[in-house]
Amino acid sequence: MSRIRVFPDPVLTTPTEKVTAVDGEVKKLIKEMFRVMYEAEGVGLAANQIGEPVRLLVVDTSLKEGVEPVKLVLINPEITHREGSVKSKEGCLSFPGLTVELKRARKVTVKGLNEEGEEVELTLEGFPAVVLQHELDHLMGRTFLDHLPAWRRRLALERYRKLLKEQSP
Ligand code: ZN
Repeated sequence: MSRIRVFPDPVLTTPTEKVTAVDGEVKKLIKEMFRVMYEAEGVGLAANQIGEPVRLLVVDTSLKEGVEPVKLVLINPEITHREGSVKSKEGCLSFPGLTVELKRARKVTVKGLNEEGEEVELTLEGFPAVVLQHELDHLMGRTFLDHLPAWRRRLALERYRKLLKEQSP
């Protein structure tokens, strides 16, 4: 059983390692990531959010109303094209309770491997594109706070520390 790592856990600020083989272990990890994500009612999860420092992410927006349903697994993902800009209000399972407004690309093309180890390339737009960029940041050891100017980052961290205090028993 895995638990979601919460900031400032160092696994969240360390870039992850490339997956070298899509084997049984990786498939087990993918299953576990979906399980943890659904349990937490999230729409995306990066492997290091459950403490596994590898380049692997999952997305499923189909349980959220009013957005395009996209379910995917991406191993060693890389964004090859970005287009446009969109304001995005985001939460993060690793920052319980905190929401932050930031700008993301509106449309992205990403390539990587699927869970069969086959090369895939896809273009996402709108909400699924935002989720994908959020999860990819995690794999690079970045969080949504890294998109904010220093003063907004400081305020968000203050807000987050208060939230953590309120949540701890
Ligand atoms: Zn996150």
